[in-house]
Amino acid sequence: MQYQSTRDQSIVVSASEAIVRGLAPGGGLFVPQEFPAADLEAWRALPYDQLAAQILRLYLTDFDPDFLARACAETYGAPFGGKAGQVARVAEGLFALELWHGPTCAFKDYALQLMPKLLVQAKKNLGRTEKTRILVATSGDTGKAALAGYAGLDGIEIEVFYPNAGTSEIQRLQMATQTGDNVAVYAVEGNFDDAQSGVKRVFADEAAARELAGRGICLSSANSINWGRLAPQIVYYFYAYFRLVEAGAAAWGEPVDFCVPTGNFGDILAGDYARRMGLPVGRLVCASNKNNVLADFIRTGVYDKRREFYKTTSPSMDILISSNLERLLYHLTDSDGKVAAWMRELSETGCYTVDAGCLAALQRGFGCAWADDEAAARKIRELWQQAHYLCDPHTAVAFCAAGAQRTAAPMVVLSTASPFKFPRDVLAALAGTAPAGDFEAMAALTQATGCAAPESLRCLQQMPVRFTQVLPPEKIRAAALR
Ligand SMILES: *Cc1c(COP(=O)(O)O)cnc(C)c1O
Repeated sequence: MQYQSTRDQSIVVSASEAIVRGLAPGGGLFVPQEFPAADLEAWRALPYDQLAAQILRLYLTDFDPDFLARACAETYGAPFGGKAGQVARVAEGLFALELWHGPTCAFKDYALQLMPKLLVQAKKNLGRTEKTRILVATSGDTGKAALAGYAGLDGIEIEVFYPNAGTSEIQRLQMATQTGDNVAVYAVEGNFDDAQSGVKRVFADEAAARELAGRGICLSSANSINWGRLAPQIVYYFYAYFRLVEAGAAAWGEPVDFCVPTGNFGDILAGDYARRMGLPVGRLVCASNKNNVLADFIRTGVYDKRREFYKTTSPSMDILISSNLERLLYHLTDSDGKVAAWMRELSETGCYTVDAGCLAALQRGFGCAWADDEAAARKIRELWQQAHYLCDPHTAVAFCAAGAQRTAAPMVVLSTASPFKFPRDVLAALAGTAPAGDFEAMAALTQATGCAAPESLRCLQQMPVRFTQVLPPEKIRAAALR
């Protein structure tokens, strides 16, 4: 299996190279040249880690299958406490795929606990011996998940940039308390797009690359633009489908809809990839918060980021430039020329419009809906009162969108974070008010619901804060070259 750039089909690389490079030269993203066929019968009874290994070996064809099996067993076994891919029934025909049972309590653990192992192995596959410096722009969850995945690994350093005051207290502490000699964490003045644009500029900066190369350092990314992030996310769509069939909630071969709380479009794109491999996925519903650029795009075909940016209670979806959408546009059009032109328009004017054929193909596979903070809070309360199901604000946005987009098919909502990562907002949704501190709110939320907070979040209060530096976006380059 080879990978090509969304902006230049003549750039073709192996899986290892796609993972080591992150971005393609010229700013494109690497996509698989074809989609391997799923073997649904053979896969339906596999435990999560074995299913992951089976799917990944079809994409990572220059990796040793035994290595993949070991890496998946290590990643999805003990660290997920036997709850990888757990599906909860919420109501008749409505399910939550709980993706937050990993070490940092967000779905990003699925990719970021595995990806470091893939990167170290990819470098071996390619005979590369330089040091890899990972730069990450994060709206909250990616940062911690990446730090946890890369901390202490040989030959790798990681630097994380998050928007100052753009994350919850818990998210900030998760990052600022990270241990390990090879990690650095910076707050950036501005919002997530400021942090992401700053990091992207460093990746595109040839002088910076030359200077680092002179010191034996090569830059790489852990953002969801990296193929190594995306591939592991395909697995849980299959796993959830098999669990629904097993529970008698879906008929074998009949479609199941999925609703995904979306920011950078990585999670939902993985669902599209599962569908392209042959999983009976009906509609993929893209759920946005008030930063509804994607919902507008799917409705109209106009991507227009020239709009007010809102800080919401679902910060990991506070995104106006949704990077992985580029991959979908490429698959829908099969045209590197069109994609390159649209992406150029986006960076020059902040807006582009896709053609009618592309829009029709998009709307065949994807629905969309959005919900503001008030609607999400009402949904949190409603789900708790009616179903005794507790969810976080990102997941609540998706439950709102799922309600608006239900068909006759069973609906699986991807639950992307533990409610205890956002305890003040969740408690306020249930009780009307919440204490000022996240940790007081965590205790009160447990008291109100009887649900226990994950130990990895409770213990943050006692951990020493290591990183406090705040940078203006123009200093990101200097920090990355330190
Ligand atoms: C990252 C994240 C999302 C958005 O996922 P994308 O792949 O960026 O679309 C949604 N919810 C939570 C909790 C997240 O951490």
